[in-house]
Amino acid sequence: MASVTLNEITHQYYEGNDATVAVEDVNLEIEDGEFVVLVGPSGCGKSTTLEILSGLLQPTTGRVLFGDENVTGQPARKRDIAMVFQNYALYPHMTVKENMAFPLEQRSGITGEEATDIVTDAAEMMGIGDLLDRLPGDLSGGQRQRVALGRAIVRDPEVFLMDEPLSNLDAKLRREMRIELQELHAELGTTTIYVTHNQEEAMTMADKIVILNRGEIQQVGPPQTVYENPANRFVADFIGEPSMNFFNGEIATDGFVIGGDADPIALNGVSVPAGREAVLSVRPENIATVAPGEGDVDGTVRLVELLGSHFEAHVTLPNGDDVIAILETDTTVEEGDAIGLRFDRDSVHLFDAASGDRFD
Ligand code: ADP
Ligand code: MG
Repeated sequence: MASVTLNEITHQYYEGNDATVAVEDVNLEIEDGEFVVLVGPSGCGKSTTLEILSGLLQPTTGRVLFGDENVTGQPARKRDIAMVFQNYALYPHMTVKENMAFPLEQRSGITGEEATDIVTDAAEMMGIGDLLDRLPGDLSGGQRQRVALGRAIVRDPEVFLMDEPLSNLDAKLRREMRIELQELHAELGTTTIYVTHNQEEAMTMADKIVILNRGEIQQVGPPQTVYENPANRFVADFIGEPSMNFFNGEIATDGFVIGGDADPIALNGVSVPAGREAVLSVRPENIATVAPGEGDVDGTVRLVELLGSHFEAHVTLPNGDDVIAILETDTTVEEGDAIGLRFDRDSVHLFDAASGDRFD
């Protein structure tokens, strides 16, 4: 197995004279056996980064290392990787068994009984042992993706590269596969780099999350760290569902002023000079409802949504800002109520309005 390093990777695509910088100055260290998720909105450079890791694409500048070996110039077939894509990329005229055995024969020359044993093991692992003689056309989407994963397992590579492998599956199946992939990783321990635009997938699966935006890394860290201490406003907004609430305002000597004639919100331990334009954020689950005048802000309940395990209350502030608060199902808050909202001080973040970076 191998650690993987991206060293000052930049990639530009050229279309005629137009250059698109898809990935810019990416530095990343992935430890041996780690499950790393690259996450970010569509077009942020995830697939480009993965293709550079695979060798399908050569970076404009920068180096790729597997362990200590510089593999930058090596094509994909020379690298000890197995890829899984969103579209399963199975051979339609081959059975499941043949699809899974194909890379074994191609890459390692393993055929016959030995190949059958390896394929059977991987098929059992993916729960498709009874589908080996079927053609891909006779399988459901979920089953096809299991075959694609099984085929990757058969290769027993140093590194798995997966590009949105679950995105074509329905929500329930995606959840199941997510858990199975984690179990698989626990069993095999293979270094895995997994790309998704889905922050929930990233949060639940990753040992380490890498958040990308516009081709640049925004933050790298364990899911909980990224969730609790977002490095900038982009990360704060991208990670978590429903999203954080953001308030534009200004730092005053006695706290943060949202604007209008609201009282300042007292802050703990933030040493930002008064007068700075800032953005305060707080997650919906870190807001409590209190009587008007007793919280940090007052507002009017616009809508209460029941989501089974909890409520989401949409509250309109006097300045027009909309705040989402998660409430217990025993709440008595109703639409039209005037209420106060109290922010959990330990869960409030302040960002520089201009740069979006967090004030520490
Ligand atoms: P993601 O996988 O995060 O959606 P991509 O890596 O596919 O993002 O794309 C990153 C950027 O590079 C986007 O702006 C995209 O339009 C551009 N891009 C991707 N592939 C090509 C290509 N073959 N030619 C030109 N531009 C491309
Ligand atoms: Mg992509």
